[in-house]
Amino acid sequence: MEIPIADRLKEILRRIETKALACGRNPADIKLVAVSKTKPAEDVRQAASAGADIFGENYIQEARKKIETLWDLDVKWHFIGHLQSNKAKYAVRLFDMIHSVDSLKLAKALDKEAAKINKIQAVLVQVNISGEETKSGVHPEDTIELLQQISCLEHVQVKGLMTMPPFFDDPLKAKPFFRQLRQLARKAIEAEIANLSMEELSMGMTGDFETAIEEGATLVRIGTAIFGKRG
Ligand SMILES: *Cc1c(COP(=O)(O)O)cnc(C)c1O
Repeated sequence: MEIPIADRLKEILRRIETKALACGRNPADIKLVAVSKTKPAEDVRQAASAGADIFGENYIQEARKKIETLWDLDVKWHFIGHLQSNKAKYAVRLFDMIHSVDSLKLAKALDKEAAKINKIQAVLVQVNISGEETKSGVHPEDTIELLQQISCLEHVQVKGLMTMPPFFDDPLKAKPFFRQLRQLARKAIEAEIANLSMEELSMGMTGDFETAIEEGATLVRIGTAIFGKRG
């Protein structure tokens, strides 16, 4: 028999807490983003009743419908997929945080749309630590400059960094990538950029979130372990 979503979610929350305590961190400093992309609204509802309060989506069209259907839920929505500038208008209306800002062009589009609705849009800058060509994200060497440029925008507020390491069967192999993101965040703090906060590190998915917690993750993005395999 299938394990209910509520049970899988509780197991993940338990593993996050156990790992946090094991590496001397406060479990309250690590937030779960339940990644519900491709999954029906009903699954989100089940996870929400079991205690999930942040959901991650990758596609604007899909998220629009789901968020509308679930208007009565008291949850936050984070955008974690690749975002095109021409979708900025929808993104600022739908999402509390956008994890995937990787260009000044996109940041400017978000700034313009956020201004129209009197919002300050919380964002993370996605860094392509591994340099894989198939991955989105700003190159590590260009990150500080991009942060400086975005910090000049009035309606976008950077809250931290996000990364996606290559896929490994062994989660320990992802460790150096997570560590590099943390080091980059420290460099950004040392650069003393105005209007910049580096409180969030969004890193770790189903296969490697415990390793990411060891390296300082504050937002772990977990889909498969909660909702099952995607079609
Ligand atoms: C799909 C996705 C996840 C969740 O991955 P799982 O392996 O299913 O936990 C996390 N982050 C991003 C950016 C994703 O696209």
